[in-house]
Amino acid sequence: MELPGMKTAPVNVLLVDDNPARLLSYRTILEPLGENLVEADSGMNALRRVMDEEFAVILLDVNMPDMDGFETASMIHQHPRFEKTPIIFVSAVNVSDMDRLRGYKLGAVDYVMVPIIPEILRSKVIVLAELFRKRNELRNLNSSLALANAELAAANAALQAEKAREVNKLNESLSSANIDLAQTNRSLEQEIAERRSVEQRLRDADRRKDEFLATLAHELRNPLAPIQSALNIRRLNRSGKSDEDNEMQEMMERHMRQMVRLVDDLLDVSRITRDRLKLRLERAELGKIIDDALETVQPMLREARQTVRVELPAEAIEMYVDPHRLAQVFANLLSNASKYSEAEATIDIRATIGADSVAVSVRDTGIGLDVDKLGSIFEIFSQVDSSQQRTHGGLGIGLTLARRLVEMHGGQVTASSPGLGHGSEFMVILPLRAVAEAGELPMAPELPVSAGSSRSLRIMVIDDNRDSADMLALSLKIMGHEVLTLYDPIVVVDSAVAFKPDLMFMDIGMPLLNGYALAEKLRAETWPGTRCPRLVALTGWGQDEDRRRSQQAGFDEHLVKPAGLETIMRVCRSAALVAEAKAAAS
Ligand code: ADP
Repeated sequence: MELPGMKTAPVNVLLVDDNPARLLSYRTILEPLGENLVEADSGMNALRRVMDEEFAVILLDVNMPDMDGFETASMIHQHPRFEKTPIIFVSAVNVSDMDRLRGYKLGAVDYVMVPIIPEILRSKVIVLAELFRKRNELRNLNSSLALANAELAAANAALQAEKAREVNKLNESLSSANIDLAQTNRSLEQEIAERRSVEQRLRDADRRKDEFLATLAHELRNPLAPIQSALNIRRLNRSGKSDEDNEMQEMMERHMRQMVRLVDDLLDVSRITRDRLKLRLERAELGKIIDDALETVQPMLREARQTVRVELPAEAIEMYVDPHRLAQVFANLLSNASKYSEAEATIDIRATIGADSVAVSVRDTGIGLDVDKLGSIFEIFSQVDSSQQRTHGGLGIGLTLARRLVEMHGGQVTASSPGLGHGSEFMVILPLRAVAEAGELPMAPELPVSAGSSRSLRIMVIDDNRDSADMLALSLKIMGHEVLTLYDPIVVVDSAVAFKPDLMFMDIGMPLLNGYALAEKLRAETWPGTRCPRLVALTGWGQDEDRRRSQQAGFDEHLVKPAGLETIMRVCRSAALVAEAKAAAS
């Protein structure tokens, strides 16, 4: 009997019986199954067969001579390879329960009785053969699974190893990149440190340069002072001098003014760069400011025989500004207009008033400006062409200063020109808003200009620079004053108490006792029968800080060397007014 679909390859079935007839009957019954039937006629032969081949099932006669079925089964099952091999015992007589038990203990799975019912035997063998086949299939599957697993494990291991190699490689290149990076970092840090130190050195050098400029300006003023005084003296003694002499005097004064301006510019530039420029705001009138600027540039205009046309709105324009600094702005623009124009040229200065600003333009017909130079001319030390500097003079700071001052007033300056050779125009726009904010501030008190008092004063001049002291003293004497000159600050207080001066001109930077300390001492003195004289500082130091200190020390006025004749005369006139008032009061 063949069961379709169930059988694949035949399995071995061992038939063990000492009786050849029974062996034949087994064969007859089982042949239709198509399995491979192997016969053994004793327990011993059965064992031999089993050693050679694997059997799906063993059909075993219980009663055999020499080695009965149970003994054979026991021997077979002792072998580890066959302990699971199913055995069907064939018994001629009815097996006792004890024998059944014995059989089961030996691993028998079943019993068939003689006479054998062929269907029963066949179906038992079919089941066991199928079981064997299934187990084999399972085993094969298992082993191929194990193989696949092993292959997988091997592939996995290879993959892991590959991965590990890659990770290692990556790690190596990362760590070498890290080393490179650290190296780059170190050199970058070094570079930064070097740059910082260079920057610091540059800043230090810049600061020293600014300090140098301030000191230079101050040091230049000292030698200018006696020369200015000598010029003052020459001017006082002018009557009856020849034309040639007068021309010489004017030339020297012109150069002196130029020198003083250069020194002033130098000082201003050092203030700009150190941010020390300060405004002294007060209520002032634009027309007056422009007049002051024109007065400053008058000698230049006169020499070049140039004319300035001034056009102002009919009504006065009141502003809250620093009038001296604004006058300086317009003077700079006017002097440039004069410098960069032909002789006998006409310069226009024009103010127009808007809703909340005033625009002042200074226009000339001179050499003009290239369009691409219009922005850079406001940079410090910038000059369009250095050959111009030689022709026209100047340090290249006038416009920088002008722009800075205008900006400090909240305004702006712009330059325009139709091109080289066609003149230039500089436009200053100032906000008017500031006036309203300033409210009803009193106008700046006018300095006493009365030339009236011809009163002779008692004046002391104190300066350790003998030339400065002597020249100033001489000019004061020529003006008709009684002068006591001292070079040593230590003796000043006692001499002053004895001399009873109306006015004292005093240098600040003196050895042993400086001008500030001296002023404080003089202010602290009791002055029996008189009062403390008017104290005027006359020094090379002219910054706001210096002015503030001299005011604190008790000075009435702070003049910067070299003081012009007009200034000295003005100071004397105010001292005379004070002296007159004092005399009237006593
Ligand atoms: P400087 O002392 O050289 O006059 P400024 O700062 O006043 O310095 O001016 C800078 C430069 O701008 C000048 O050197 C000049 O080349 C140019 N400049 C200024 N004003 C005029 C003008 N009115 N016409 C032509 N060029 C001018």
